[in-house]
Amino acid sequence: MSDTRKYLLSEDQIPRAWYNIQADLPSPPAPVLHPGTGQPIGPDDLAPLFPMALIGQEVSQDREIEIPEPVRDVYRAWRPTPLYRATALERDLDTPARIYYKHEGVSPVGSHKPNTAVAQAFYNKEAGITRIATETGAGQWGSALAYAGSLFGLEIKVYMVRVSFDQKPYRKAMMETYGAECVASPSDHTNSGRAILAATPDSTGSLGIAISEAVEDAAQRGDTSYALGSVLNHVLMHQTVIGQEAQAQLALADDRADIVVGCTGGGSNFAGIAFPFIGEKLRGGGELDVVAVEPSACPSLTRGRFAYDFGDTGKLTPLVKMHTLGSSFVPSGFHAGGLRYHGMAPLVSHAQDLGLIRSVAHTQTACFEAGVRFARAEGIVPAPEATHAVKAVIDEALRCKEEGVSRSIVFNLCGHGHFDMQAYTDYFAGALQDQPYDEQELAMALAGLPSVPAAA
Ligand SMILES: *Cc1c(COP(=O)(O)O)cnc(C)c1O
Repeated sequence: MSDTRKYLLSEDQIPRAWYNIQADLPSPPAPVLHPGTGQPIGPDDLAPLFPMALIGQEVSQDREIEIPEPVRDVYRAWRPTPLYRATALERDLDTPARIYYKHEGVSPVGSHKPNTAVAQAFYNKEAGITRIATETGAGQWGSALAYAGSLFGLEIKVYMVRVSFDQKPYRKAMMETYGAECVASPSDHTNSGRAILAATPDSTGSLGIAISEAVEDAAQRGDTSYALGSVLNHVLMHQTVIGQEAQAQLALADDRADIVVGCTGGGSNFAGIAFPFIGEKLRGGGELDVVAVEPSACPSLTRGRFAYDFGDTGKLTPLVKMHTLGSSFVPSGFHAGGLRYHGMAPLVSHAQDLGLIRSVAHTQTACFEAGVRFARAEGIVPAPEATHAVKAVIDEALRCKEEGVSRSIVFNLCGHGHFDMQAYTDYFAGALQDQPYDEQELAMALAGLPSVPAAA
């Protein structure tokens, strides 16, 4: 086969700035509110948790934010990542669609997460912080921050959601290899963790609970910051190196994107690939269909309510307007641990509200089936999270075949699945169940949404 398979950029084509979609949106997202007063929060409210540089990025309206040279220098270890044309998958599907994927699994920890972990470690180091507390779902974020911490000489404490801690022991080993400490959440290291354990001793944990623990840890110590691997504006912005590189690589392929696809947990890898393309469209570019793919068992964009809610279960965070299943919602223990979050990034939620993106939900067995098909064609075993994007891409490619049209589909292969082979083993054994989210539990969680002043 003579088709070009791989579009590469040189190191000096690593983007020089992150892209901030806030500069191009037709209306701003709703303000973040103080849970006590119901008033918009200011930088000082966040100062105990984050360095000022990151708080500034959180509220910035500048279209471009320069990437510090030490961060670009670390990016050089694996960026620019390749953009592949999925020629083998196209043949397998017998589709006229042109399928491309950005391979973020080539990073040292195997996912897109270091794009922001390295940036966050850099700004914390600059601000004189010596320790960072964080949560992790499937372990990718914990690994990424542990890696970044080792590069910048920061102590890292990771609260890892219990169900993943038990399913993925090698992620903990990886964090420890980088010198980080990793405990299962809920833990007895914090008040929030102890409260959950007292009420539910066998709690499988959730990202919402782990966030409470990490925030509490950071708020109590002057030397410690908190870091979040998704959801926040600055985190999504750090990921836009993905989409910017993909735009340059599509130009090399003499192509453009008709459809952009990403999976959504908190929304960061999706925003990373999609926001630069959406920005181009908002500034006068052509038609674009942007698809966010989430698990049926944790369907915040497709089934959740667009409302103010807490980011965590312990109700320690400010109130953000987002698509949410309620901060007390604990999703079932399905395998795409990185997608088990009750809410969605406010910017992604806002983009859906503005009609700039659409969302679909798929069951995990349908996603693993798609992931296996992808692996057998393209040779890369996708992370369980990434199989959600693969499933939606295959559906779109088959729709192209039905309609007899050739569209270009670009998706983010946000991580490889080498740490997730137990999930594949369970899939092959027929042991995976598609648990729909619990309607009754959801109704209860949504009934508990905080009330906010009408003006908000
Ligand atoms: C963390 C993670 C996700 C989910 O987080 P987003 O912020 O939605 O990207 C998805 N895929 C992989 C591989 C991850 O590590």
